[in-house]
Amino acid sequence: MKHSSECTCEQSLVETLSGFSAQHPESVIYQTSLMSALLSGVYEGSTTIAELFTHGNFGLGTFNGLDGEMIAFSDEIHQLRSDGSARVVSPDQKTPFAVVTQFVPQYRVKIDEPMSREALHAIIDEQIPSDNVFCALRIDGLFRHAHTRTVPRQTPPYRAMTDVLDDQPIFRFNQRDGVLVGFRTPQHMQGLNVAGYHEHFITDDRQGGGHLLDYQLERGVLTFGEIHKLTIDFPADKAFLNANLHPDDLDAAIRSVES
Ligand SMILES: [Zn+2]
Repeated sequence: MKHSSECTCEQSLVETLSGFSAQHPESVIYQTSLMSALLSGVYEGSTTIAELFTHGNFGLGTFNGLDGEMIAFSDEIHQLRSDGSARVVSPDQKTPFAVVTQFVPQYRVKIDEPMSREALHAIIDEQIPSDNVFCALRIDGLFRHAHTRTVPRQTPPYRAMTDVLDDQPIFRFNQRDGVLVGFRTPQHMQGLNVAGYHEHFITDDRQGGGHLLDYQLERGVLTFGEIHKLTIDFPADKAFLNANLHPDDLDAAIRSVES
């Protein structure tokens, strides 16, 4: 562990994993479709989970029909559904929108005291101050609280995502061990992806979780790294080709559905 001479006490908690990342190939974010397409109701994709996993085993997204939240890490991939259930995903399930990478953390921070979501994000923002690159992050630990929601499964004709929000159930987990998987996406990527922090959570018994609205960590380990490359597969189906992917209220709509 090496520190620059002017580093503060807080910074010294951050362990640089340069040796680790040097052994790994360059990280790439892979995503299928666009957030703006999901927002406008393009809920059926042709990408299978098996295909998705050829691009990375770490990430988040949803399933065809907007059937719950996806969380993937360490070769585990789960579906968190609006009835509160969770299940292991099968390789032939399909996704209309997902973001994955091969997670290569460059930094590791041990958290020994309760810390808010904002404070955890501040640690990442201090290490990777430029908002022009992607970050991937993972937290393993005991969460003092974690508030999640899961999108409810839709049936055709599909409504825009902003219209299905009222139906989404919210779950509250208190003093639960779990895993958080997330990305920090540059503001200039709003619409292609979700700008800012986007995080999903699953409990250690793999029975519950979802898209995180808020959380506080009791203690745990934060790992994160920056990513400089993005690959996007555009759908070719009629719903995507006919969707309006640049509505006037795009930024506000994404903030309303994803924060
Ligand atoms: Zn989400």
